[in-house]
Amino acid sequence: MDETRWRLVVHGGAGSMRPGKLDPEQERCARAGLEAALAAGSAILERRESAIDAVEAGVRVLEEDPCFNAGRGSVLTASGCIELDAAIMDGRTRAAGAVSGLRTTRAPISLARRLLEQGPHVFLGGHGADDFARDHGFEQVENSWFEVPERRRQLDELLGEGGFDDEVKYGTVGAVAVDVDGHVAVATSTGGLTAKRWGRVGDSPLIGAGTYADDRSAAVSATGSGEFFIRAVAAHQLAERIRIGGQSLQDALDAVLADIETLGGKGGMIAVAPDGDAAWGFTTPAMYRGMADASGRTVRVYSDVDER
Ligand code: ASP
Repeated sequence: MDETRWRLVVHGGAGSMRPGKLDPEQERCARAGLEAALAAGSAILERRESAIDAVEAGVRVLEEDPCFNAGRGSVLTASGCIELDAAIMDGRTRAAGAVSGLRTTRAPISLARRLLEQGPHVFLGGHGADDFARDHGFEQVENSWFEVPERRRQLDELLGEGGFDDEVKYGTVGAVAVDVDGHVAVATSTGGLTAKRWGRVGDSPLIGAGTYADDRSAAVSATGSGEFFIRAVAAHQLAERIRIGGQSLQDALDAVLADIETLGGKGGMIAVAPDGDAAWGFTTPAMYRGMADASGRTVRVYSDVDER
């Protein structure tokens, strides 16, 4: 056991935020939310508890925070409701739980965790996922509980333009952690893309696309244009570049984002390795992100150069 090996990285979505252009209140709220998520997850890792507990705790904080596109504050579908996706994975055993299209379950990531633990299935979709939540005593809320006025405004704006926007505002949240025992885990939670239709599912809840963890390589969470991350099997690709290809964590992450760009997609990823190494990167102008380890905490929004 290495008491100082633990590390936690979180993201709150990639997007086109630029210094001086982002609403100051939105920026303050996002930075405070990332801080709070890091504090919740770090407290667990400092107590030498598991990476999987830390990523669940960090993502729960962000799901409850209306600043982010996950849980309360999620984006709206084209029909004006909210459908939530989440996934969690434990690198020790590659056990995973994933849910999509939740409409009434308040804590999507904790539901995914329950599925990971109690199965027998790995992925539940639609009303069946909410039924599983009710059967397991998870708090249920009205779908309108998740809605905040800004998301309604964004939907109206987008529908007014007649467009489907997969460009600008990715607000998915995710966390990756390595604990003092060198085990890695990941959690990702999202409302998906504004004006999504027909039961659309993005990369976030798909094991291997937006979410993946394996003690032999890395834990990875993605944000961005989900359709491209699915096609690139992004999170799994990153892990296998390390395990089979022998690449470093940062090189593997950069290579996956470059691969996605060749397909036409944009976004960001965070990753940690069992040895305590951590990496992040994005091909959008900015990404809400933060990192914590035994030496302290950092929260960033803009490019690493702009933040200095
Ligand atoms: N990747 C997410 C999705 O496609 C969106 C996001 O990152 O905000 O559902």
